[in-house]
Amino acid sequence: MTKPIWIKHAAQLVTLQHELAGPRIKEAMSHLAIIEDGSVWLEDGIIQAVGTTKELEETYTARSDEAEIVDATGHLVTPGLVDPHTHVAFGGSREREFEMRLEGATYMDIMNAGGGIHATTRMTRTATEDELVRQTTKRLDSFLAHGVTTVEGKSGYGLDLETELKQLRVMKRLQAEHPMDIVPTFMGAHAVPTEYKGREEEYVDLIINEMLPVVAKENLAKFNDVFCEVGVFTPEQSERILEAGKLHGLVPKIHADEIEPYQGAELAAKVGAVSAEHLLKASDEGIQAMAEQGVIACLLPATALYLRETAARGRVMIDAGVPVAISTDCNPGSSPTTSMPLVMNLACISMRLTPAESLCAATYNAACAIQMEDKVGSLEVGKQADIVLWSVQNYQELQYLFGVNHVQSVWKKGVKVVG
Ligand SMILES: [Zn+2]
Repeated sequence: MTKPIWIKHAAQLVTLQHELAGPRIKEAMSHLAIIEDGSVWLEDGIIQAVGTTKELEETYTARSDEAEIVDATGHLVTPGLVDPHTHVAFGGSREREFEMRLEGATYMDIMNAGGGIHATTRMTRTATEDELVRQTTKRLDSFLAHGVTTVEGKSGYGLDLETELKQLRVMKRLQAEHPMDIVPTFMGAHAVPTEYKGREEEYVDLIINEMLPVVAKENLAKFNDVFCEVGVFTPEQSERILEAGKLHGLVPKIHADEIEPYQGAELAAKVGAVSAEHLLKASDEGIQAMAEQGVIACLLPATALYLRETAARGRVMIDAGVPVAISTDCNPGSSPTTSMPLVMNLACISMRLTPAESLCAATYNAACAIQMEDKVGSLEVGKQADIVLWSVQNYQELQYLFGVNHVQSVWKKGVKVVG
């Protein structure tokens, strides 16, 4: 048995408690439910009590000898961050493309020349499962070091049955072997593999008839995601794939309106997707449809920055009543980062979220985007003891001092994993 942990005297304990269930919209995104001189008792991997230090002392002073006491005086304490959109389990690296882009090539130029997703697909196909586990472990360690305690992870660098399953099995293995919670998404529709060029419909059939049934039967994924984009999958193909996934119990997600406006946000609302991702070019009608259906906008400002694109209209979406989450989009081409704190800063700077909204988008709403809000994303009794102690005093300072890692300590299920 590990010792109970008693964190006391936090300058700000950001709990994100709220009486309303479901993803937060509008003003509710700013409701952080902060406790000053806050305290939390962690035991058996679970949060047992949250309140002021004075309140917890009434119950727990008698047991203080058996606990490890953490004095958080002068520090911000928050839930572990949640990253609801990553491609973390991939093979290799693509630093040469970064250079090519700066020499003038576009994302689609590189993809059409056999680079981009295709290059990572080759490297992921040739890597052994053990090699992928080793490479992914390094990235997960880096996520923890940046205060992230839960990630979603997508397949989609296999684009054949065998490698898609390999990626999903790597994530399943790491869910058991690594402290990180990894929520798996099948994304066979990440690109059309080069061997199916000109036979796109056949590849869609392969996904529907051969990949989805095996992924579902082996219980390897919770979500089914599609890259709906001009030159990748059409809205019609995307809808077929997402509807087929629903028949197998996989919840739809959709990479929508990233490079060109393509009715992706509208499609997300139509198929009942839990979230739509990117949305740089989402239409006003699409935003409205998402608000009406409660589809979470999963916005990826680091990707926009890295591709030197204008970020998604986060401010407009929140004001329209769309629940917003944010994510690194950690991937080897357009966002090779594991820093959710950087993404929180960028959400403020490039999408005009307030610091409070940005923190909600990186914790509770992010948990909702991967249907994990009953376990993570806020500090409430009965939830997992996933907690970050920061070297700053308050959440405003966390968002203000940008480009710096302010993580001091991280506990995952009540066990210290950083610091
Ligand atoms: Zn993505």
